Amino acid sequence: MNSIQTDTIVIGGGIIGVSLAYGLIKHGSSVILLDREDQNLTASRANFGLVWVQSKGYGMPRYAEWCIEATDHWPVFSESLEEETGSKLNYENTGGFEICLGEEELAARVKFIEDMRMQSRNGQYEVSMLSRDELQKMLPKIALGNDVSGASFCRHDGIVDPLNLLRTFYQGFQKRGGDYRPGHWVEDIQKDGSGFLVKTPKQHFRAQKLVIASGLATTKLSNMVGMAVPVSPQKGQVLVTERTSKLFPFATGGIRQNANGNFMFGASHEDTGIEIGTSTDILKVLVSRALRIFPVLENLQLVRTWAGLRVLTPDQKPVYCESEEFPGAFAVTSHSGVSLASLHSDKLPEWILEGKIFPDFDVFHPRRFNV
Ligand SMILES: Cc1cc2nc3c(=O)[nH]c(=O)nc-3n(C[C@H](O)[C@H](O)[C@H](O)COP(=O)(O)OP(=O)(O)OC[C@H]3O[C@@H](n4cnc5c(N)ncnc54)[C@H](O)[C@@H]3O)c2cc1C
Repeated sequence: MNSIQTDTIVIGGGIIGVSLAYGLIKHGSSVILLDREDQNLTASRANFGLVWVQSKGYGMPRYAEWCIEATDHWPVFSESLEEETGSKLNYENTGGFEICLGEEELAARVKFIEDMRMQSRNGQYEVSMLSRDELQKMLPKIALGNDVSGASFCRHDGIVDPLNLLRTFYQGFQKRGGDYRPGHWVEDIQKDGSGFLVKTPKQHFRAQKLVIASGLATTKLSNMVGMAVPVSPQKGQVLVTERTSKLFPFATGGIRQNANGNFMFGASHEDTGIEIGTSTDILKVLVSRALRIFPVLENLQLVRTWAGLRVLTPDQKPVYCESEEFPGAFAVTSHSGVSLASLHSDKLPEWILEGKIFPDFDVFHPRRFNV
């Protein structure tokens, strides 16, 4: 079979693959993006659309900093992507809450925030605790339920329309001449001189650089080029209500209101393997918590539910690595692919194309799992 040559091949057309592909082409590389194109709800099509910092990086302060860098860069990044494509991402730096029910949850949250502050390298953690009254004052249009005891607040948090983000990356990539190949299931990768030969049943491709960003297939494909990147699935179910007037102009880990007025409740955390069915018992738990926080939402009809699979490393933190055995092959995987899209597209290409190393970047190497 004849092969097609390019500078860089990216395997995986989820949010991580396409954000990297877009960034790489912007940094001057020619890029082919290969995607299996599942019909299933991959994480990139099923997520909650938070651009989120709170609680990220427990036990790895560099990851907490990386999330803040990502959210700080989001306004510039989203403006530039919107300008280039003419599309709207509906990104808003709203600030976000983790709302607590009862005194026990509140005490646990206070301790968690203090732990994060102690772990941080500058002794600061930009998340503050709010009393129930302070929280209610910030939410004049929606009454809190009786069980709400307080909340933590982070000004960095925000929301975006995740499907618009995915679509817009594709637009930007193709507008810059990126070669997107849906329906290309990568079955084999081989070393080929100083580069790589990537095989799908339809076509073979050659490139000097290779980026594996294939969600749950990252472990298998990375193995072919000497990298051990363990990932596993975790199911998350989400619910959507009918539209209503704008009541809640913030984000929380479990409740948000879209630009068009729908509320979203989510997402569950279930270890069910590769399976994306929805179940009423779990959905009831999500609804019940949302209604304890905002009882008035009980008047809204639920219009849609879905489930998707998170792609999680053992410590739920990102993996960024280059193969030591086959330099030029990279693996990138992360929960928070939406939140980190700004850095994946605008910063990581410098590492992949120019070998730039960011401060303490080595903490993201998967050798941390070899204990
Ligand atoms: C319910 C839920 C809520 C979430 N909420 C948020 C949130 O609010 N904020 C946030 O930042 N993150 C959130 N996430 C996480 C975020 O969605 C993921 O981090 C991100 O989507 C992962 O993207 P990915 O590209 O690595 O993986 P995927 O979306 O799984 O995409 C992988 C792609 O690789 C392709 N592929 C696989 N194997 C091959 C192969 N052999 N050849 C070619 N292509 C292949 C697949 O077809 C797929 O298109 C959430 C996830 C879930 C499930």
